[in-house]
Amino acid sequence: MLLSDTNMPTAELQALDAAHHLHPFTDTGELNRKGTRVITSAEGVYLFDSDGNKILDAMAGLWCVNVGYGRKSITEAVTRQMERLPYYNTFFQTSHPPVIALAKAVADLAPEGMNRVFFGNSGSDANDTNLRMVRHYWASLGKPEKRVIIGRNNSYHGSTVGAVSLGGMAAMRAQGGTPLSEIEHIDQPYWYGEGGDTDPNAFGLERARQLEAKIDAIGEDRIAAFIAEPIQGAGGVIIPPDSYWPEIQRILAERDILFIADEVICGFGRTGEWFGSTYYGIRPDIMTIAKGLSSGYLPIGGSIVSDKVAQALEDHGGEFIHGYTYSGHPACCAAALENLRILSDENIVGRVKDETAPYLRDQWLKLADHPLVGEARIVGMFGALELTPDKASRARFAADGGTVGLMCREFCFANGLVMRAVGDSMIISPPLVITKAEIDEFIALAVKALDLTHAKLKAEGMMVAA
Ligand SMILES: *Cc1c(COP(=O)(O)O)cnc(C)c1O
Repeated sequence: MLLSDTNMPTAELQALDAAHHLHPFTDTGELNRKGTRVITSAEGVYLFDSDGNKILDAMAGLWCVNVGYGRKSITEAVTRQMERLPYYNTFFQTSHPPVIALAKAVADLAPEGMNRVFFGNSGSDANDTNLRMVRHYWASLGKPEKRVIIGRNNSYHGSTVGAVSLGGMAAMRAQGGTPLSEIEHIDQPYWYGEGGDTDPNAFGLERARQLEAKIDAIGEDRIAAFIAEPIQGAGGVIIPPDSYWPEIQRILAERDILFIADEVICGFGRTGEWFGSTYYGIRPDIMTIAKGLSSGYLPIGGSIVSDKVAQALEDHGGEFIHGYTYSGHPACCAAALENLRILSDENIVGRVKDETAPYLRDQWLKLADHPLVGEARIVGMFGALELTPDKASRARFAADGGTVGLMCREFCFANGLVMRAVGDSMIISPPLVITKAEIDEFIALAVKALDLTHAKLKAEGMMVAA
């Protein structure tokens, strides 16, 4: 099959895909009975599939295409770099201009006191780096017994063994063997799903204080770090109550443990600030980055490391025996650099904060009036709708969890919209460049999908609480 053959009919593409391609996060049997959707091109906030359908991508790919599709200047920057130096490694005391420039550009954007970057290829491997780095940090300071990392249930930190172990997705942790030891979890600040009758802020404090209790139970002298996403993404866009992060920050300030903020989604503008940590005023020692760093144009991720950690490792750590063949890959760095230039020069983050996110917020929150929606929540360009058969009690559906979410997702796709389902909630993370006119179009499509889902649930007698 030649590249030029991608005009082949959808059915043929589907048959080849079914025969040879194993998809991530997919039930292969189910997919192959149905046939995959084939995306062939994209421009701005729109995808085009092999049947010629135009689809508004309210997920920015997988939370990553922050500057939108079709940015020629990124393609050109990558081409220039590929022609000059397509690859060289950063092991063995070597470097190259794009990785140097990108490290400086990221440090310039990062919060004060965070000036060093370790590069990898993805969010998952960056979190593996973090796991090894924080334990090595404490060992270098003569405290090798500080090894335990505290994560949170229903958090997502990636798919490698280390990242799954740090993460808190029960189904993921159950598959493929035992997760790494010396990693503990506390509950998430998910008020809608787990808060019951408790006031949201009281609930936020309660969940934050689980960190304090966990540290005491294990012993501070055994704990290396706490890891958390400022806003959980894959877990369902869980926006914590306002009380949560200040209380976590208070606890961290009193304890001698490191804090890893997983900024893979929040980073590079999604909240309307450059980082979720800035949005919440929290002060991490390490930030995981990927996705929005290159807007997904090429794979790159990494860890932004605070001066405190970097200096200790420089002074006491010796060789950090860790790295990837493609750490700081020149072409990926060129893509990321141009992506950051676009975000800055076009003031995309500022426009999200001052104009488009408030505009989206007004319309998104109104969806809470829809008979199928129990809660609408949003920060910046990052939101969720909880679907429910009974708004007052925030009840779950009697149908298996996720049935209604998938039904709604299908109605979205069929009508030219990508929203993702997490269980029975619908989540969004549109490109940061989405315009007000495109937001209007998006909301109209979302309402249509909700209406169709609601009508089908009523017709089939499924508006029933568990
Ligand atoms: C996507 C994601 C990761 C994993 O990144 P990959 O590039 O898919 O390995 C890690 N953390 C968070 C918060 C993510 O959303």
